[in-house]
Amino acid sequence: MCGVRNAPAIVDPDDGERGGRRSERVSMTDSSDILIIGGGIAGLSLAAALGDRASVRLLEQEQGLAHHTSSRSARQMQPSYGPEPVRVLTEVSIGLVREIEARLGAPLLRPRPLYWLALDDAVDLEPLRAAIPGLRRVAAAEPGSRLPILRAERVRDALLDPLAQEVDVPRLLDWYAGEARRAGTEIVTDARVSALTRHGELWTATVGDGPDARTFSAPIVVNAAGAWADQVAALAGVGPAGLVPLRRTVALARLDAAIDPDWPMVNDAGGSLYFRPDGDRLLSSALEDTPAEPHDAQPLPEVVARVTERLAAVVTPRVEFERAWTGLRTGAPDGVPVVGFDSEVPGFYWLAGQSGYGIQTSAAFGALAAADLLDLPLDAAVAAGGAAVAPSAAAAAFGALAPGRFGDAALRGSAA
Ligand SMILES: Cc1cc2nc3c(=O)[nH]c(=O)nc-3n(C[C@H](O)[C@H](O)[C@H](O)COP(=O)(O)OP(=O)(O)OC[C@H]3O[C@@H](n4cnc5c(N)ncnc54)[C@H](O)[C@@H]3O)c2cc1C
Repeated sequence: MCGVRNAPAIVDPDDGERGGRRSERVSMTDSSDILIIGGGIAGLSLAAALGDRASVRLLEQEQGLAHHTSSRSARQMQPSYGPEPVRVLTEVSIGLVREIEARLGAPLLRPRPLYWLALDDAVDLEPLRAAIPGLRRVAAAEPGSRLPILRAERVRDALLDPLAQEVDVPRLLDWYAGEARRAGTEIVTDARVSALTRHGELWTATVGDGPDARTFSAPIVVNAAGAWADQVAALAGVGPAGLVPLRRTVALARLDAAIDPDWPMVNDAGGSLYFRPDGDRLLSSALEDTPAEPHDAQPLPEVVARVTERLAAVVTPRVEFERAWTGLRTGAPDGVPVVGFDSEVPGFYWLAGQSGYGIQTSAAFGALAAADLLDLPLDAAVAAGGAAVAPSAAAAAFGALAPGRFGDAALRGSAA
């Protein structure tokens, strides 16, 4: 077992003096090296990446894992989507997911090239093309030739991300959870952390209330609580990262025409809509970003109506709504995820603010955060992820996620 960073040496139960001191300090408490709060894709990918190199316990408030945003995504990994460090780490993640596929012996990725479209003359794709080297300009007629249901006359201009993928999220989540459990991680569900206190160098998390309350301790707490991440920070007396949960709804629709499951995805660069095939249905979103408190988000009829209306305006067949789901994309004020040790409070590690990128970055974030926590070289952690991105570039991109990047005043002052 490795030592963990920013933390005391792991207490050996056979070491009379140190072990004895700890049991006096935190009695009736289950101890591990690392406590992860949150059983979505962030917490699970980290637990899988830590493996048996530390003793890990993961606490999830719901009865099942990935109940919230991680089971409600559009399941895409798009290297042209997001701020620069996210794009770099998405490429790294695609390489790492290919490694997982090889170990699993089953497919996780399906090529789903992505067209960025200008659907009216006011949308200029040039800044996007100039900023993202992986994007290729294509003829405006090309998307319609590959996606025959598209109203091709509406397309003014188009760019192509040829490397974008659809990912089997349920299977990936199962793999992360299975790997973590095989390595000895204890995953505790129905375990909402209601208090976090620090005694000396150990955190103690309280789960539940009254006589049934249980406590778990560790020198390091990882905040992977998604939309609740600022609330979990508050429990620990850690200032907020200014994270704002934003509602986003995805709908599935039938068409009165055959759907080819291999059609590409299209995304209106003007921000009105994206859609792609999902088996024999079309999956689409009207890209709403409505601020909300952390909660179990459900679709609103007016948003579903908007998605259906916008989809019907860009495809030729008749659209019939089938079902929808809503999740919370939770982001920091600068749109960049917040990953790393808190700059003020020792032993408190952020793995939050993934916004619309938590699926596409999970493999890289898990591997890099694990190396960071174990004080191991970052570049070695992603060396297995194919040659698309130099490990040193991956490590630099990861550094850009550090919570201290705003300076303490800005970070602490911008809480929503
Ligand atoms: C409609 C939609 C489409 C999306 N499409 C994509 C996409 O195509 N590609 C992509 O990369 N991303 C996409 N995303 C974003 C992606 O889903 C998220 O970034 C990702 O799921 C966040 O994962 P997470 O583990 O941080 O959060 P969550 O999955 O929400 O997990 C956080 C967990 O913490 C638990 N928790 C909170 N508080 C406590 C507590 N006190 N004690 C114990 N447990 C607690 C919660 O119950 C929850 O299970 C999409 C999101 C939405 C809504």
